[in-house]
Amino acid sequence: MKADIKSLTQEELTEALRLMGEPAFRGGQIISWLHRGARSFSEMSNLSKALREKLDERFYITVPVVARKQCSRLDGTIKYLWELRDGNCIETVLMSYHHGNTVCISSQVGCRMGCSFCASTVAGKVRDLTPSEMLDQVLFTQLDSGCEISNIVLMGIGEPMDNLTNVLTFLELVNHPNGLHIGMRHISLSTCGVIPGIETLEKKNLQLTLSVSLHAPDSETRAQIMPVNRAYDVEALFAACHHYFKTTGRRISFEYAMIDGVNDSDWQADLIAKHLRGMPGHVNLIPLNDVVESAFKPSKRMAAFQKRLESHGITATVRRSLGGDIDASCGQLRRKAMEEQKGGIDHI
Ligand code: SAH
Repeated sequence: MKADIKSLTQEELTEALRLMGEPAFRGGQIISWLHRGARSFSEMSNLSKALREKLDERFYITVPVVARKQCSRLDGTIKYLWELRDGNCIETVLMSYHHGNTVCISSQVGCRMGCSFCASTVAGKVRDLTPSEMLDQVLFTQLDSGCEISNIVLMGIGEPMDNLTNVLTFLELVNHPNGLHIGMRHISLSTCGVIPGIETLEKKNLQLTLSVSLHAPDSETRAQIMPVNRAYDVEALFAACHHYFKTTGRRISFEYAMIDGVNDSDWQADLIAKHLRGMPGHVNLIPLNDVVESAFKPSKRMAAFQKRLESHGITATVRRSLGGDIDASCGQLRRKAMEEQKGGIDHI
């Protein structure tokens, strides 16, 4: 059985090389090749032929294939559907803003969190992504599009806190100076509210931005739309957020998809304000994307809700919607491809 070389940290790779009788600096050389998108060991021209052959016997290099690619005519957003080594597919979205290019990556194949408004979770979770498969989304999106990536958001398919070990390794890899070298300040990680994950991240004290998908400030509503609330309710979630802020000093961003008649009342804005007292939170109001499988409709009260939050001194923004013409929201393209071609994916 060959091992996945791109998922190894420099430390792990150096140790594997030491056991093969190789000097430590080879680790850095190999990482440079892998993180620039090398597809085979034979490309690694500064390694001896004997070493390249030995590596090839022990390791494989992941290379995702573009299964589908959609480019928005409205705003240049590009959505990739990648086919992985085992035939599973995942989505990545590339968005251009005036401050740079942001890539939104997936952390799992599917999701088991069960949020009732989200397309990613409809067919459940298939498996976790490896660190290399997360790195590849950034790397091959950059290579295919020719756009240099400056920011990463872990807001695609999957729950990062449900695959945290691999996510943390990915963060180390993407930060590597021989590779993409993207700093923590340019990375956001979004969770539906898995408290042990928030606590682990707090201990790591990374400089990334934590986003929490709130979507309702009262446990009754939240439990109806987000099953995770039955394990970690709103009170416990805000207690964990306050603790995170106290320890790290880092402002948390709260995601709030506005659903007609469900979470868009003034009393809910007031309750958000109450929960946020003592913490400089930022609330990001998201227009609900219509998901075929759900009965929820977008709210018509976004501006009023934003005003209500602002009247309490809370920073609230309405997220600009990109890629409206290309199924660019979570899980939609993967769902569509699964529906359309139960027999397999056509490559472009
Ligand atoms: N599992 C993580 C990462 C996914 S991020 C999390 O829940 O945070 C994707 C974001 O898009 C989450 O805030 C999610 O709740 C939101 N989302 C999912 N379906 C949506 C929809 N139909 N409309 C708007 N936002 C949606």
